[in-house]
Amino acid sequence: MVRVHRDEDEATFVGLVTLLPGPDRKRQLKSYLYRLIYHNPVPNSVGCVSTWEVEGGRLVYQVSLEMQENGRLRWHCSCADAIYRGEEENRPCKHVIGLLKVCAEMPAWSGQEVRRGA
Ligand SMILES: [Zn+2]
Repeated sequence: MVRVHRDEDEATFVGLVTLLPGPDRKRQLKSYLYRLIYHNPVPNSVGCVSTWEVEGGRLVYQVSLEMQENGRLRWHCSCADAIYRGEEENRPCKHVIGLLKVCAEMPAWSGQEVRRGA
């Protein structure tokens, strides 16, 4: 379930929507919006690759992708789940999993712009 938001006039890439278990007790599926707020224009440079703002949960969270000096990519999320679980265990929180899923469903992802058939 991927929807690409575009600004009507400028066709700017704004964000992505995906369905994730919501914050309520039933974990009912809710739509979460990922908004790209930062993207490093230099490919393969060490540091922050991209930062996303996630709306739809109790709070707005920030998910960011970091390129480490050893060339490995690492995800960070500002939610409590990610902090308590420890990102070291390689068990990303649902926000990261959701974003990975959305990106995987978009083979034409080119960083700044997403092209999809009309
Ligand atoms: Zn999270």
